[in-house]
Amino acid sequence: MSFADLWHELEPLGRDPVTGGYRRYSWTQADAACRAWFINQAEKRGLAVEPDGNGNLWAWWGPPGADAIATGSHLDSVPDGGGFDGALGVVSALAAVDLLKDKNFSPERAVVLAAFTEEEGARFGVPCLGSRLLTGAVHPDQARALTDDAGVTLAEAMTAAGHDPALIGPDEELLSGIGAFVELHVEQGRALEPIGSALGVAQGIWPHGRWRLDFAGRADHAGTARFADRQDPMIVYARAVLAARHAAAENGALATFGKVIAEPGGSNAVCSLVRAWLDARAPDEARLEKTVTTVRSVSERASVAHGVTFSVRQESHTPVVHFDEALRQRVGGVLAAAGAAAPVLATGAGHDAGVLAARVPTAMLFVRNPTGVSHSPAEHAEMADCEAGVRALAAVLEDLAGG
Ligand SMILES: [Zn+2]
Repeated sequence: MSFADLWHELEPLGRDPVTGGYRRYSWTQADAACRAWFINQAEKRGLAVEPDGNGNLWAWWGPPGADAIATGSHLDSVPDGGGFDGALGVVSALAAVDLLKDKNFSPERAVVLAAFTEEEGARFGVPCLGSRLLTGAVHPDQARALTDDAGVTLAEAMTAAGHDPALIGPDEELLSGIGAFVELHVEQGRALEPIGSALGVAQGIWPHGRWRLDFAGRADHAGTARFADRQDPMIVYARAVLAARHAAAENGALATFGKVIAEPGGSNAVCSLVRAWLDARAPDEARLEKTVTTVRSVSERASVAHGVTFSVRQESHTPVVHFDEALRQRVGGVLAAAGAAAPVLATGAGHDAGVLAARVPTAMLFVRNPTGVSHSPAEHAEMADCEAGVRALAAVLEDLAGG
């Protein structure tokens, strides 16, 4: 089956008809549809699908054993996300298996296709939750108690989707059977287009994290409360937004407030609470720390000045990732030999590959995104580039899995 045929099958699942963006949140109906599609496609290819205890799907080509070569990505999305983020890596893995089967390749080391759950953290707040649980980076009890915006816990959501949350936890047996992981992903940023390259290889991932900031003030009347008497958390929040932008720019980092809740949310009232989420990323820990510290201290000072109570809590942190040098060289060599030389890129985007890199030699391939826009319905990759990605991934799997 061609990449394009596979792509068009998956394309409508979980897509919002109005925005054109994807709402593939983990353990929802859209997620179930994507998972069912993946399982069906894997089984059609004779792959044995085995979910792990955390809800990640593993489709085995060859018996599980030592040194399997894993590839894949995730099927969930951010709110109104693009179609390529995650899905491209999963569909490309299936299409690469087809290319290899067409040429009668039979792997010496098993090849296993992975579809990770809750990579974006869009529903339960912790990105790469499926891979973090697999490697033991998040405690199972902590994960089970995570809630979505409606107050539904991960344990409840999993149960409702027919998955036993008691099975959540690290899986040493599975991990120890994986010799290498190669994740193909749409480029998030615009480094490949200006240099005319369809593919890139990842050097590493910036350290990054999410922080929840709570600004508590006092609700009041927008038409009568004098400025001097107000305890307006929105003003303090606004200071924090600008501080984040300035501090990040000064430190060569990135900082974003993309989610904010104002309570009670009346258009003619001073609000009582602003809750906002800061996403910050930097080339190194020192610059990340400096950026967040500035946001924190500006928020504290402004809170005092406006009679607002401020608190901040780190929701997640991902240390810097340097992908395995030897594997990167080998992948680069395979691509060069296939006439698809790919430059080496660092990225500020987190990935399951970044989590697995702590335990397994890991590499990433990026497929050119002409506008660089991601986490948006405008995210795009040309079909020809996707097909080049599939050929590259197939060549890498062929090299790594032998045969
Ligand atoms: Zn992704």
